[in-house]
Amino acid sequence: MERRDVRARIHLDVVTPQKIEFSKEVDMVVAPGYDGYLGILPSHIPMMTRLRIGTLKIYDGEEEINMAVSEGYMEVTGENIIILAEAAELPEEIDVERALAAKRRAEERLAALAAWDVKALKAQASLQRALNRLKVAGKAKNKFAERE
Ligand code: ATP
Repeated sequence: MERRDVRARIHLDVVTPQKIEFSKEVDMVVAPGYDGYLGILPSHIPMMTRLRIGTLKIYDGEEEINMAVSEGYMEVTGENIIILAEAAELPEEIDVERALAAKRRAEERLAALAAWDVKALKAQASLQRALNRLKVAGKAKNKFAERE
C-alpha cells in the first residue's frame, strides 16, 4: 500500500524591515493576536490579523522555538503563514543588557509623567517590548531583579 505523508506541515515566514528572521516548514504556530493567542495548524482557513507585542511559539517536531515579536500582521493563506513584524528576535539574538536599559528608561519615563498622553503610550509600549524580550531571553523578573 502506498505510504501517505500524514505529517502535514505549514510554511512560516517571519519578516521584519531588517531581514527574513525565520523561513521554514513547521508543524504549528501560536501567535500573539490582539484578542489572545492564536494557534495555526496546517490547512487553517485563510485569515489576516494584527499581532501585538508577545511571544511567537513555533512547533517543529520535538522542538519549540520562541521568538519575541513586536507589533505586526499575520497572514494565513493555505499552507503559508506570513508574519510581518516591526521587530522579531530569537532568544539568542536578544541583548539582555540592552533590554534591561530600555526597561529602565521606560519605567523612568512613566514615573515622571504628568499626564497620560502620547508619550505615556510610547513609554508603555517600550516597556512591553523590553519585558517581552527579557521573558523570551529566559530572564524572568525575579532572576534579573538583583542586577538592577
Ligand atoms: P531600544 O530602545 O533598545 O532600541 P526598542 O524596543 O525601541 O529598544 P525596537 O524599535 O523594537 O527597539 O527595535 C529596533 C531594532 O533593534 C530591531 O531590529 C530589533 O530587533 C532590535 N532590538 C531592540 N532591542 C533589542 C534587544 N534587546 N536585543 C536585540 N535586538 C534588539
